[in-house]
Amino acid sequence: MEFISDGCEELTGYKPRDLESNSSLSFNDLIHPDDQDRIWEEVQQALKQYVPYKLTFRIVAANGKVKWVWEQGRGIWSEEGDLEGLEGLVTDITERINAENESLIAKVKAERANEAKSDFLSQMSHELRTPLNAIIGFSQVLMKNKIEKLTLDQREDVEQIHTAGEHLLILINDILDLSRIESGQMILSMEPVNVIHVTEEVLNLTKPLADQFGIKIIDEITETKDLFVWADPFRLKQVVLNLVTNAIKYNKKNGTVTLSCESIAGTHLRISVIDTGRGIPEEHHDSLFEPFTRVHADDIEVDGVGIGLTISKKIVEIMNGKIDFTSHPNSGSRFNIELPLCTPTADLQDQENSVLQKDLGEKESNQDFTVIYIEDNPMNLALVKKFLGRERPGIKFLSAPQAKLGLELARVHRPDLILMDINLPGMDGMQALEYLKTYEETRQIPVIAISSNAMPADIDKAIQMGFQKYLTKPIDVDQLLESIDQYLHKSKIS
Ligand code: ADP
Repeated sequence: MEFISDGCEELTGYKPRDLESNSSLSFNDLIHPDDQDRIWEEVQQALKQYVPYKLTFRIVAANGKVKWVWEQGRGIWSEEGDLEGLEGLVTDITERINAENESLIAKVKAERANEAKSDFLSQMSHELRTPLNAIIGFSQVLMKNKIEKLTLDQREDVEQIHTAGEHLLILINDILDLSRIESGQMILSMEPVNVIHVTEEVLNLTKPLADQFGIKIIDEITETKDLFVWADPFRLKQVVLNLVTNAIKYNKKNGTVTLSCESIAGTHLRISVIDTGRGIPEEHHDSLFEPFTRVHADDIEVDGVGIGLTISKKIVEIMNGKIDFTSHPNSGSRFNIELPLCTPTADLQDQENSVLQKDLGEKESNQDFTVIYIEDNPMNLALVKKFLGRERPGIKFLSAPQAKLGLELARVHRPDLILMDINLPGMDGMQALEYLKTYEETRQIPVIAISSNAMPADIDKAIQMGFQKYLTKPIDVDQLLESIDQYLHKSKIS
């Protein structure tokens, strides 16, 4: 017996009797032609296994409109086990599917917009950095020229060009960072980070500035035992550097900057940067983390852009931490960052030890050039090591199976050339290059990409990002040797 419920009319526009077996049309005829085969196959499968079926398909209603339906049904079996028919409940899901489609379309559109933005950013950063590097580099060349010395006046002018170039570079890097964060493109590489290392690096970098401003630094962090937080080491350093630089810049003559840390409830570490400087008036407290807020902008001696704190706040927040401050005009400020505490993995400690050991052990050698190869594939590593050992025995060859260790090695050994695999576990070669470009001590090192991605688009992208050369795998050793010679020769000349 056949029964079609009254709901059928609302769904299909046909009355139940129009679709009953004695009429010329049946419900099956309404199924969209593109879905027919698929759903019959699914029904057959379910019937074979004697289980209910669940189908999503389209029907064409009486007015020609296509509707999405969901049907849950089962076979009706006689006592003898013969299939007598099917019964199912059909629900209209057109609205839900449309809503899902819309949100999917919106998501795809947003992703495309983000991709376009990031392409634009990497393009723009490259376009801006290239002439800027020339401005900064050539002004340095002029200042350092001992043969044709500049007059005092000329020297002052060139210094202005150089300082303005440096300022613009910081501004570009900051704006790029901010856009990257806002478009969700900032990829962090989270790991246990030794806060003492971060402090030491920051204090090394800021010492000249502290001396220039006559500021005494009191470091209470390095005296404590090793403390590890869960963070991106490079980004954490960026944040602490921003806070310490500010504490020096906005201090008073003969002022002090104190770095301290304390555990909060055993789960978080609070790192504080305390200064005895000018402080921040109450009316600016709410807007301090907004971009381009500069309370002391009138002071022309203090260079600044006004987005360092905005970036710091966002970075700390993506690292699941928080940043805040207390400040009183004329008596100083205290900026705090809180990050989750963690224990280092044995791996990380091994890596730290191995970097240190390498450093100590190899300082004695007096080889001409150093090359670092960052590659996770042991076969490729072995190949290049063996080949170089034979063909260029004077080259000190170091290797790292992952980017982070490679970065550490590069900073410690300052090689003449880096060979970089692109598809590395964790941080990839592209990101690693970005990091290399941001460290003062590794910025100028030429980096050759060695990758199995041989698409012209991949190669273009890598070259645009700043790789000097792009070699594809399988490694052609002669081509590799030629490239190594070319860049080592260049570095000898410069
Ligand atoms: P910048 O230093 O480049 O101007 P920041 O975003 O780092 O930018 O800081 C924003 C503003 O906050 C600064 O211009 C300064 O007026 C104020 N500020 C930041 N840190 C301090 C501090 N330790 N003491 C006093 N003022 C500060």
